[in-house]
Amino acid sequence: MHNAEVHAGTRLSLAGRTALVTGAASGLGKRIAEVFADAGASVVIADLRLADAQATADAIGAKGARTLAVAMDVTDEESVDMGFALAQQRLGAVDILVSNAGIQIVAPLQDFRFGDWKRLLAVHLDGGFLTARAAMRQMMASGRGGSIIFMGSVHSKEASRLKAPYVTAKHGLEGLAKVIAKEGAACNIRSNVICPGFVRTPLVEKQIPEQAQELGISEEEVIRNVMLRDTVDGEFTTVDDVAQAALTFAAWPSNALTGQSLVVSHGWFMQ
Ligand code: NAD
Repeated sequence: MHNAEVHAGTRLSLAGRTALVTGAASGLGKRIAEVFADAGASVVIADLRLADAQATADAIGAKGARTLAVAMDVTDEESVDMGFALAQQRLGAVDILVSNAGIQIVAPLQDFRFGDWKRLLAVHLDGGFLTARAAMRQMMASGRGGSIIFMGSVHSKEASRLKAPYVTAKHGLEGLAKVIAKEGAACNIRSNVICPGFVRTPLVEKQIPEQAQELGISEEEVIRNVMLRDTVDGEFTTVDDVAQAALTFAAWPSNALTGQSLVVSHGWFMQ
């Protein structure tokens, strides 16, 4: 089994908390927002794509959770700060941040365009910094502390061909999370990283034909021999697997679990 049923028995509670998830109009962020709402949280769906964010917020809200869709470009300081201010005004200070928005651009290093390098680092690293800073300010002011979760990747630990800025950025998020764990501890702010293997979201669906072309192999070979080759069972990780890891970090009640990273990858990378 590798779907929501696997996790159906989990009963961690986020009742009374407000969570802001970036990139929550799609893929992993969307599923994390749904699982957090099921666990009792009020959820802010922050994304570049406001219409899709609104549709996600409406669908989650229809089941009874308090939700808010916010247009946010995580690379833009003003956009991030305004989004967090609106979230606080409507749903209260943020207790949980999932800094998840991300993009992928693949090319050999010698051909990588500088503009693409900078764009990718901006989404993952500027986005991680700006959203974490805004969240920390609210968590400190509320006096409740909170949980900051970065969406890393197996590429926070390992390298792959064609992914120079992505691997660089995902390694960088581990450093940022460790600094926040140290600076935030006195205010009960915890910070951790989730490192998924390949999950079939739009981000990955787009890469399959791109990698097939760059590597001169079939799409089936990209899946079997590139993406899943080093897993223990040839399986994709699922959005539910990652959402449950996020729920654990979000609900964890003490600084015992901070400055850590959790690899959820069917054994592709073993610590
Ligand atoms: P996705 O493409 O389905 O969703 C990404 C979302 O981020 C989209 O809704 C997009 O609009 C949003 N976004 C992009 N740029 C943004 C910006 N500047 N500001 C705000 N929102 C922005 O991708 P996904 O697979 O769900 O990826 C989510 C995260 O998980 C990313 O950080 C990605 O690197 C990471 N990740 C994904 C996988 C995987 O296999 N899918 C594996 C490891 C890590």
